[in-house]
Amino acid sequence: MGYGRPRVATSSCLLGEPVRHNGNHSRDRFLTDALTPFVDWVQICPEMEIGLGTPRESLRLERSPEGPRLMTRRSHRDLTSEMTALAAERIAGLNLTEVDGYVFKAKSPSCGIHGIPLYVGDNAVDRRQRGLFADAVIRAYPGLPVEDEGRLRDPVLREAFVERVFAHARLRELLRREPRPRDLVEFHSRHKMQLLAHSPDGYREAGRLVAQSGGPDRPGVLDAYGAAFRAALAVRASVGRNVNVLQHCLGMVSDRLDPVRRADLAEVIDAYGAHEVPLSVPLALLRHHARGEAATYVREQTYFAPYPEELGLRHHIPA
Ligand code: SF4
Repeated sequence: MGYGRPRVATSSCLLGEPVRHNGNHSRDRFLTDALTPFVDWVQICPEMEIGLGTPRESLRLERSPEGPRLMTRRSHRDLTSEMTALAAERIAGLNLTEVDGYVFKAKSPSCGIHGIPLYVGDNAVDRRQRGLFADAVIRAYPGLPVEDEGRLRDPVLREAFVERVFAHARLRELLRREPRPRDLVEFHSRHKMQLLAHSPDGYREAGRLVAQSGGPDRPGVLDAYGAAFRAALAVRASVGRNVNVLQHCLGMVSDRLDPVRRADLAEVIDAYGAHEVPLSVPLALLRHHARGEAATYVREQTYFAPYPEELGLRHHIPA
């Protein structure tokens, strides 16, 4: 199964570029060592791009009646309009409409996606802000998978983000090829189990659009399908929905299994549902036992291989 190679935007300092205000970088090993072989990066350092050099004075957000302003800490230079203009330019340009996700640097008044302090004088009066550049990107692309490197240390959030990024890349590749109705049917059916693990309603909504793809407004239907597909995957997959999907798959392979193997599989699915083993365990067993038509079906379902296996992201015990 082809993965489609994702294009992922990221704060340049996370890839080891020495662009921070103090002349350092914030290299993140998961990005540079684990993900780099599988994705193309689009690096953006908003502060460098508005013409600030490195090292430079650090910045912070300050409260004003018109909203947060991006200011230099010592000299109180207001960089809000430069940063807003850069964000508008990046958002309008092709480089951000063609990405499958964005990893921002945490705790930055330009790149942070949560918990950024807002100052009045020397006091932080609110710690719920987003960095100015990140805020503009997130508002412009509400369906884009975004995370920061701190949140990506959580195995559940990491797996969810990577899964969405690879799914977005496959969708982008499909839409780029101006698919025929049968291509869309095939794409949707390959994603059936993956979509069901996230959102059965989203799966049905996207399926309704697939049924309309032979009509006169194919571009409109494809756009709507893309939005429905992304929205379905944005719903967090749950243990309960994964158990439903696994049982559905067990039903498909069980005809060809002897009673002992069938019982083994049912037991392992129960153990996953009881938070005793990671998802990788029932998936590996299902793949191992699938024979004949069921094996072909399993091989083709993105649910069984939503991203390169080498990333090893499904080995955590669900909380
Ligand atoms: S956090 Fe953003 S603005 Fe700051 S150095 Fe990294 S990429 Fe540049």
